[in-house]
Amino acid sequence: MAIRVRFAPSPTGLPHVGVIRTAIFDWLLARHYHGQFILRIEDTDRSRYVEGAVEEIIGALKWLGMDIDEGPGQIGGDHGPYFQSKRLSLYHRYADYLVESGKAYWCDCSAERLDELRASQEAAKQDIRYDNLCRELALEGSPGDGKHVLRFKIPEGGTTTFHDELRGDITVENATLDDLVLIKRDGFPTYHFACCIDDHHMAISHVLRGEEWIPSAPKHQLIYEAIGAEPPKFVHVPVILGPDKKKLSKRHGATNVLEYKNMGYLPEALFNFLALIGWNPGDDEEILPREELVEKFSVERINTSAGVFDIEKLDWMNGAYIRAMDTGELTSRLKPFMAEWGWIDGNWEPWGEDYVESVVELMKERMNRLTELREKAGFFFEDFDGFDPADVKKSFRGDDILSRLRMVRDALANCDFSLTALESAVRGTADALEVGAGKIIHPVRLAASGVTAGPGLFEMLELLGKDRVLARIDKAIAWVEAQ
Ligand code: GLU
Repeated sequence: MAIRVRFAPSPTGLPHVGVIRTAIFDWLLARHYHGQFILRIEDTDRSRYVEGAVEEIIGALKWLGMDIDEGPGQIGGDHGPYFQSKRLSLYHRYADYLVESGKAYWCDCSAERLDELRASQEAAKQDIRYDNLCRELALEGSPGDGKHVLRFKIPEGGTTTFHDELRGDITVENATLDDLVLIKRDGFPTYHFACCIDDHHMAISHVLRGEEWIPSAPKHQLIYEAIGAEPPKFVHVPVILGPDKKKLSKRHGATNVLEYKNMGYLPEALFNFLALIGWNPGDDEEILPREELVEKFSVERINTSAGVFDIEKLDWMNGAYIRAMDTGELTSRLKPFMAEWGWIDGNWEPWGEDYVESVVELMKERMNRLTELREKAGFFFEDFDGFDPADVKKSFRGDDILSRLRMVRDALANCDFSLTALESAVRGTADALEVGAGKIIHPVRLAASGVTAGPGLFEMLELLGKDRVLARIDKAIAWVEAQ
């Protein structure tokens, strides 16, 4: 069987983490079986359409490295168009067929009538459902006539069973199902109708979608039967929860995948992280680069219980990807951030690519997010004024601080700034003053970098270079003198 998996977002907002996690499962399944990954835009709800959402969704897929085999615009494919809004005539043909075969009917119940019906059902604590008033009236209508909706005739009595790949057969009483709308007053299909027709016409083999669609699946089963089509395999994937076990929402932090880009996460890491929410490879391994995920992915290992979005784990994982990445590559990923912070221009000036790369090499052990570099490595690119009082208390402590700073300044002035020379200048000063090395190392670090934590001191001094280090120590001496 050809494996064809579609990702079918509605362009109603930004690319949500949960939606993109489903897309990752879709993509992994397609790639695992050398099948097709199809993007279909479900834009039939015109009132919820958000301008720019399609571009954002495609941008998120692209950023995460998910290539699309068939989809809108330039991508193409034999089963288009890939916007549902451009497939209306297909849905209307099926609408005609269902009316002619007595499986659907036109309904002209007004919104007011349906509101009243709902209110009375609510008051009587009954299930909210259409009361089938128009079912036997044989009203004349046509798609988009502005007066009628088309409703599906749910069979009276009996049960409907659909198969979920993770949960097995699920059976419901038909009496619990509503005569659902297939075509709305504006002539656009509902999600239920359009997705069944499209999944059939696009020869989709597997439908992976959020478990909130389980209650709709029996209706879809009935629609497939009514149009004489074989349903695809259904896989309902679990929701993503925040650490407090509530459904992931803005309260927990960013929900738009592209925000993670701005926050300094690598797409490789976010992809790996999201793939492990609600799925696991069956062992304890967590760092699974894309190729390994493709190799190991299987629908059977998707969980039926909810997964948790743990940002601390994402930070850890991102750090692991940063450390494993080639420094040159990492530097080019950091380039846009550094340009935004005003450290470099598009040509790495004024520092030059080699210098920037050396900074990254020194710092890559010390960051989990790309954006952390701004705080941690700013002193490599910018001068600073003054010191944090807490840092002063820690590193410029003791009455003899000025003499220690002056001594080490002289020693550094007389050294060639090779790593060994720097080390002996610093340690030699400590020995000469008969103090512990820390009494020299900590003040020099604070004077040269403006902060108390950072990379190895000697590597840092070497990279800053003699002129800057001496100038900064002079400035620190003047600052301490002025206190
Ligand atoms: N357009 C639906 C949504 O965004 C897709 C559900 C499905 O994949 O069938 O929820």
